[in-house]
Amino acid sequence: MNAPARINSALNVRDQFPAIANWHYLDSAATAQKPQTVIDAITEAYSRDYATVHRGVYERSASMTASYEAARAAASNLIGGQPNELVFTRGATEAINLVAHTLPKEGRNRVLLSQLEHHSNIVPWQLAGYEVDAVPLTPDGEIDLEAAEAMLTEEHRIVGFAHVSNVLGSILDAGRAAEIAHSKGALLLLDGCQAVPRLDVNIVTLGADFYAFSGHKLYAPTGIGCLWGRAELLAKMPPWQGGGAMIEKVTFEETTFLDPPARFEAGTPHIVGAVGLHAAVDWVEKLSLDAIHAHECALVSECRDALRNVGGVTLYGPEDSAGIVSFNVDGVHAHDTATILDDAGVAVRAGHHCAQPLMDWLSVPATARASFAAHSDSSDIEALVRGIEQVKRIFSA
Ligand code: PMP
Repeated sequence: MNAPARINSALNVRDQFPAIANWHYLDSAATAQKPQTVIDAITEAYSRDYATVHRGVYERSASMTASYEAARAAASNLIGGQPNELVFTRGATEAINLVAHTLPKEGRNRVLLSQLEHHSNIVPWQLAGYEVDAVPLTPDGEIDLEAAEAMLTEEHRIVGFAHVSNVLGSILDAGRAAEIAHSKGALLLLDGCQAVPRLDVNIVTLGADFYAFSGHKLYAPTGIGCLWGRAELLAKMPPWQGGGAMIEKVTFEETTFLDPPARFEAGTPHIVGAVGLHAAVDWVEKLSLDAIHAHECALVSECRDALRNVGGVTLYGPEDSAGIVSFNVDGVHAHDTATILDDAGVAVRAGHHCAQPLMDWLSVPATARASFAAHSDSSDIEALVRGIEQVKRIFSA
């Protein structure tokens, strides 16, 4: 085979990420490294602007509140929504738990998920007492929407699918999924954790009812995430945590609550997390998500070709996966592969990726996963390939 084409970073943003100097970070699907502009926004928020939100009458608190609400507007705008439909959460996990625990079931006690879901989109439904059905995958590792259509019944309250798989990188035809869900009166929740950092998402065009994502995979800090929900659905959902900031009036006899999104944000929120998220949203929008996606697609294709060239490597997922390449070196446990790669200065994730039902479907205990970001380039793939050649040398010795 010919040597694969080398992609030079068209985005040229690597030097904006101080934490990856001299390091091949291929674990952005777990959590993204932060560009300097996000780090600066966080530092300034603490060192210059910090105060509480929604409570203080003094000027600093008012301006911090304005920054917090501006972050909400930016995050909702990123996915084509309105600020009053966007609830800040700790992350996608909390966002999905919120829906699972507060959405009125309206007599429907089943949820339709898929075989590739992250545990965050399985366990909350189980804890909330739903019966779970799981849609199988196509041989390519995509959610089989024909099967979904056949499986969906009027007992299903909600269909919950990953917009992009965190293991296979497969991209859901979300518009079609919405049509299927709505045809039986079910709602569609999309787990957008892996989609938001790399696709230009518009929830209105997609026809989703809920959309969940985490800031930390979008170059923002941990501890801040978003649940977008259609306003009329959020209005029907009761609060799930009580405390300050979500009430209208408290007496010992009765408490009344604020409208969404405040109703779902009990307690002092992650103020600076929201500021960091805003900076991250501005950063990806300036680069353009289309450009990030094109860049990562080129890297995925280069990486898959390079791993095929090495030989003795099994690749999972579709050829056109979004930013993610899962693989195993034949006969070697993924943890051994990742440990040897670590010695070679390459960080990949190894394990079940919080997707044990998907590992069962793949019939493997674990995979290694290389995942790309805007800062990734061909040097990362070259280092990965050198590391895998070393894995093969060690295990054939
Ligand atoms: N869904 C998907 C597809 C993910 O990749 C992740 C994070 N690995 C989650 C949900 C959970 O996100 P968090 O841990 O940030 O809440």
